[in-house]
Amino acid sequence: MRFTKLRLTGFKSFVDPTDLLIRDGLTGVVGPNGCGKSNLLEALRWVMGENRASAMRGGGMEDVIFAGAATRPARNFAEVTLVLDNAERLAPAGFNDNDALEITRRITRDAGSAYKVNTKDVRARDVQMLFADASTGAHSPALVRQGQISELINAKPKNRRRILEEAAGISGLYQRRHEAELK
Ligand code: ATP
Ligand code: MG
Repeated sequence: MRFTKLRLTGFKSFVDPTDLLIRDGLTGVVGPNGCGKSNLLEALRWVMGENRASAMRGGGMEDVIFAGAATRPARNFAEVTLVLDNAERLAPAGFNDNDALEITRRITRDAGSAYKVNTKDVRARDVQMLFADASTGAHSPALVRQGQISELINAKPKNRRRILEEAAGISGLYQRRHEAELK
């Protein structure tokens, strides 16, 4: 399944609704310092279920909400929608009726995050599993953060193995086994 669109509203510096079309051949985003390039990649990770505020360069998860500027008041919520091409019907059972799969995460001040897949309310775990099984999760090595290459070189073998497992699409299986053992 391919990403086709990322829509941001009130997410970090993207205060007004912004659509990023992800067309074939897109390999990078360029622009002046501070224009929001890293924020775009963070939005992609966030909508896939990232739950560490530090990965969003914030102290708390609500820091992803537009915090206001000299001429604009702060927002009360942030929302990111990721659209995937589902023409081949590879989405999980129950979400396979459409040619597109739309995943939305919204965070509201003092109310936390809520997720939807194709307008149906789902749990964070459902979204995390969907992407873990597709090898494109929030921790996927397909998204390379600033400084991540040197982290990889210096990582302990166990941590490096985790990265390979995520790339191989088997991290969701470990999570399920862990949950089964707890039951
Ligand atoms: P560089 O080239 O330096 O890496 P960049 O294009 O990656 O820059 P980002 O780090 O994506 O830039 O964007 C930084 C901008 O986002 C800053 O101007 C910062 O003030 C703004 N920003 C981050 N969080 C928020 C927020 N919650 N509300 C408003 N603006 C925010
Ligand atoms: Mg950056």
